[in-house]
Amino acid sequence: MPMNRPERQRESAPELDAVDRALVDGVLAGQLRPLAKTITLIESTRDDHQVRAQHVIQALLPATGNAMRVGISGVPGVGKSTFIEALGLYLIEQGHRVAVLAVDPSSTVTGGSILGDKTRMEMLSQNTAAFIRPSPSAGSLGGVAAKTRETMLVCEAAGFDVVIVETVGVGQSETAVAGMTDIFCLLQLPNAGDDLQAIKKGIMEIADLIVINKADIDARAAQRAQSQMKSALMMFHHASPHWTPPVMTLSALQKQGIADFWAEVKRYRDVLKPTGEFDAKRRHQALAWMWEMIDSGLRSRFRDNPRVRAELAPLQAAVEQGVTTPAAAAARLLAHLN
Ligand code: GDP
Repeated sequence: MPMNRPERQRESAPELDAVDRALVDGVLAGQLRPLAKTITLIESTRDDHQVRAQHVIQALLPATGNAMRVGISGVPGVGKSTFIEALGLYLIEQGHRVAVLAVDPSSTVTGGSILGDKTRMEMLSQNTAAFIRPSPSAGSLGGVAAKTRETMLVCEAAGFDVVIVETVGVGQSETAVAGMTDIFCLLQLPNAGDDLQAIKKGIMEIADLIVINKADIDARAAQRAQSQMKSALMMFHHASPHWTPPVMTLSALQKQGIADFWAEVKRYRDVLKPTGEFDAKRRHQALAWMWEMIDSGLRSRFRDNPRVRAELAPLQAAVEQGVTTPAAAAARLLAHLN
């Protein structure tokens, strides 16, 4: 799905050494090994690896941005991997190359990833037109999301023209994925009450498309859930005046409704591209990302500052005991950053 982009000025890329030049050339040629190696570099916590990763991404930047970025969310068991496998195979049949990434906050605790697991998408993972990468498993949610964003760019440079980013149905990671994709899709079960859960979490407000899965089990229940969901959606303010999130029913297991789903994704782009909203969303996402990186960078500089480290404990105690005001303590600590 090629997208026309305006010419824009780019930062001149830094000089790369031979190893990194080979990575860049390999990724641009669509080779999977250099792609995987670049992602390993991105996910590394070593400072020198991070510097190299940034240089490689910078060199790849002109080749990014050409994919449709699709976020998929839903509680465990809703059918995300079944759906992504069916969708991925359908898209490959249509001539696309599909990358599947994941943002799984629990992986930072368990050290492993429950999402994006190759064994969960057996057919897709064996297909040479697919690339499946589990969630990075180190760092905060913000860190995991940042690495997934960068991985997405590298996949785009490698010629994947659909990038699917999967996440579980917990609020923060969904916001992170909605903030890096063009269209954010929420998978729901056809049970009554499930929709209320989503409303409570505020997730429906960020969903661009809602899918009731497992419609094969009870078609009438799925239809009921669909109309409940539609009326619930009327209570929300949507991001675009030109797009009311559609609610569809499908069966990932029986591969029914997959083509209709993709037709809606394309319609989303076709409606919001001419109004400028599609590109504006990406611009806002890029700026928001920059600010997130600034915020987290400032936090770590603050925490690593030797004078802050020396004064933090006594000042915290003073605030707890009420002998110093929180504002005075904060001002004193922040002054060390000057
Ligand atoms: P995930 O945890 O959201 O990735 O969910 P899975 O894709 O692993 O699916 C959980 C279970 O639901 C599996 O046993 C699937 O076979 C089943 N499942 C997924 N989609 C459907 C569907 O459309 N219909 C039915 N009947 N079962 C489904």
